[in-house]
Amino acid sequence: MNTFSVAHLVPDHIAAFEQYIPSRPDDELKKLYGCDRIFRLNNNENPLGPPPEARNVIKRFSPEKAAIYPSGDAFHLRSKLSRHFGKDPDQFIVGNGANELISFVIKAFCREGDNIITADKTFAVYEWVAQFSGFNARLIPLKEFGFDAAGMAAAIDERTKILFVCNPNNPTGTYWDIDTFREFMSAVNGKKIVVLDEAYCEFVEKEDYPDGMKLMEEYPNLVVFRTFSKMYGLAGLRIGYLAGSVEVVDVIRKTCVVYSVNAVAQDAAIKAIDDQDHVLKTRRLMAEARHYLGRELERLQLPHVIGETSYIMVKLPMSDSLAYRKLMRHGIMIRSMTGFRFPNYIRVSLSEMEMMEAFIKALTEIL
Ligand SMILES: *Cc1c(COP(=O)(O)O)cnc(C)c1O
Repeated sequence: MNTFSVAHLVPDHIAAFEQYIPSRPDDELKKLYGCDRIFRLNNNENPLGPPPEARNVIKRFSPEKAAIYPSGDAFHLRSKLSRHFGKDPDQFIVGNGANELISFVIKAFCREGDNIITADKTFAVYEWVAQFSGFNARLIPLKEFGFDAAGMAAAIDERTKILFVCNPNNPTGTYWDIDTFREFMSAVNGKKIVVLDEAYCEFVEKEDYPDGMKLMEEYPNLVVFRTFSKMYGLAGLRIGYLAGSVEVVDVIRKTCVVYSVNAVAQDAAIKAIDDQDHVLKTRRLMAEARHYLGRELERLQLPHVIGETSYIMVKLPMSDSLAYRKLMRHGIMIRSMTGFRFPNYIRVSLSEMEMMEAFIKALTEIL
């Protein structure tokens, strides 16, 4: 008799890896927690949805086009991005969300024994992709809720290939100002790839916030990530992009999966990128929610971290996974932060006032 066992086929780094469990769909959660509606404040989605012109593109998408492969290298979107940012179309790669771009960059530069450097409490996908690909992730502790530039530079060795900096950081919302960024780039001295993940840059209004798109012309080893998931409200269509020097991007392009970005997403992104009115409206809504939550959390005497982004962090006097379950029974979904190495913290997406008030009401009840 044939007996099959998969274990001997599995590399150690895969066996050791603990997979991420995504949240269930709303209909399942409603049954599970006995609530009749769910406010999703867990993924930093834009409550305004996509900008109007992108909406029209999605509505008018012809079913006939579903049978046809999309542009394999997002030709028209890259040319739109090149005009928008004043760069060469070959400086851009479009991916199935910025998440996919992380894999592209790691695959392009790492070989066995290499390492990447990032923070211990940041967007976890850099660390995960490195680990399940068999590479080392060196995690440098945050300093006062921000990335520690000196600590990261000090951790570099000859096997370091990439440094990932989330600016502003998810989940803390802190950012490196232009001087910190420049000091860090000088310390790296053009010897390694630096990825600046700017998933939330469109929310930041501070003068001293470094614009990676401009700075990359000075630093050929700089790669910038952006996404249409957050400000542009296209998270469900999965589309993001990276930009860098042609020299570096030409290498990363070799690891791209062609056709991974669907046609609707490409068409909608072309329309979304120019809508400054949508950016302003979203910022206004975020500012209102930020002020309201700041005031209410003061009143409740809960320590909190409010950054420049579309979410805040709150420290609770109870376990975050318990708080998650209790809030779910009130139809409020937040992100518990133990997985981000912030036990007892939750991250809450900023949203419309109705949802913010429902959150504070539910939070008051569970405390
Ligand atoms: C949401 C997010 C991304 C990526 O989002 P995609 O939906 O894959 O484009 C990347 N980095 C950070 C820090 C994020 O929060």
